[in-house]
Amino acid sequence: MILPAFQYHQPQTIAEAVAIANSCNGDFDFVSGGTDLLPNYKDRLNPRANVISLSGIKELYEISPTKIGAMARLVDIENSKNLHERLPVIPHTAAQIATPLIRESGTVGGNIMLDTRCFYFNQTWFWRDSKDYCLKADGDTCLVVPQEKICYATYSGDLAPVFMILGTTFVLEGPDGRREVSSQNFFTHDGITRNVKLPEEILTHVIIPSQAQTWRANYMKLRVRDSMDFPVMGAAIAIELNERTIEYLRIALTGVATTPLLFDEITDALVGDQLTEDLIDDVSDDIMNRVTPYRNVAYSPQYRKAMIGVYLKRMLRGFLPA
Ligand SMILES: Cc1cc2nc3c(=O)[nH]c(=O)nc-3n(C[C@H](O)[C@H](O)[C@H](O)COP(=O)(O)OP(=O)(O)OC[C@H]3O[C@@H](n4cnc5c(N)ncnc54)[C@H](O)[C@@H]3O)c2cc1C
Repeated sequence: MILPAFQYHQPQTIAEAVAIANSCNGDFDFVSGGTDLLPNYKDRLNPRANVISLSGIKELYEISPTKIGAMARLVDIENSKNLHERLPVIPHTAAQIATPLIRESGTVGGNIMLDTRCFYFNQTWFWRDSKDYCLKADGDTCLVVPQEKICYATYSGDLAPVFMILGTTFVLEGPDGRREVSSQNFFTHDGITRNVKLPEEILTHVIIPSQAQTWRANYMKLRVRDSMDFPVMGAAIAIELNERTIEYLRIALTGVATTPLLFDEITDALVGDQLTEDLIDDVSDDIMNRVTPYRNVAYSPQYRKAMIGVYLKRMLRGFLPA
C-alpha cells in the first residue's frame, strides 16, 4: 500500500488551482481530505501525475445554514451548533459517514465528489490483475454489466441524497468562470464520468435554500458495520405537514445505482394528500419497485431493494403526528 509518485501542488486561491489544473493536460486530480482519493491511488486505481490540494484555499471552509464550503470537514459539520439548530439532518448524516478519524480529514466536497464503488474496482492491483481489469481502471469491459459500454459502479456518498431533498445548488468554478448546478441535475448515469463537473472545475460550495430550515428531514443508512461502512442503501426524506396534509415531500436514495436517485415524479403528486399508513405503504413500495440495485457492493441486490421499502416505511411513520 505505497503511494505512487506524483507532483503535489498547494495553491492558495481558486484561480491559482484552476490555472494549475489547466496546465496539467488532464493528468491531475484535486484532493481535499484524501480519504477516498489516496486509498485508490495506493491500489493503483487511475493515479495521476499531479495532485492539486484544495486545503490552502481559505474561502472554501465556510459553514452556515445557507452555505457550506467544499473544504468544510465532516467533523466540523457534525459539531456545528448552527446546523444542529437550523438543519439537524446535515450533522446527523455527517456523523454516520466512515469513522471519527476519517471525518477529521474528509470534507463535504470530497463526499459529494466521491468516486463510485464496485467489487471489481475497489481492489488491489494484484487482485485486479488476477481477475481481469474493469472498464473504469485499465480494462475495456464492465464486469458487472458486460453487455453495456458504461461503468455500473455504485454511487455511495451519504450527503448527496440529503442535499437533493433540501433542494441545494452546487457551485462550480473553472476556466470559464463560475456556474451553479442544481444538486438534482448534477449526477450522471455512468460510474466513470459520474457528474456534469468538467475536469478543471472545482466544486466550491453548496447553497441551501433558507426554506429548507422549515422542513423536517431524516437520513438512515443500511451498512454492514455501523462503525464505519459506506451505505449499501441510504434513504433521505424531507417533509412539511399541516397536521396530516402533505405540503412538501421529497425522497432520495443512495447506494443503489450509479447516481443518487430522487423521486419527485412520485412525491410531487402527493402534495395535498393525507399522510396515512396506506399512503406510506404505497409510496414506499412504489419507490422500491422502481429501483434495481446492481450486484457490485455488499449484500444482495434483492435484500438492498427490500430494505428500501422497509426503511422508507419506518422513516415516514416517524413523521406521523402523535
Ligand atoms: C474506511 C472508509 C470508510 C468510509 N465510509 C464512508 C461512508 O460511510 N460514507 C461516505 O459517504 N464515504 C465514506 N468514505 C469515503 C470518504 O472518506 C468520504 O466520502 C469523505 O467525505 C471524502 O472526502 P475527502 O475530502 O477525503 O475526499 P478526497 O479523497 O480528497 O476526494 C474524493 C474525490 O473528490 C474529488 N474532489 C474532492 N474535493 C473536490 C472539490 N472541492 N472539487 C472537485 N473535486 C473534488 C477528488 O478529486 C476525488 O476524486 C469512507 C472511506 C474509508 C476509507
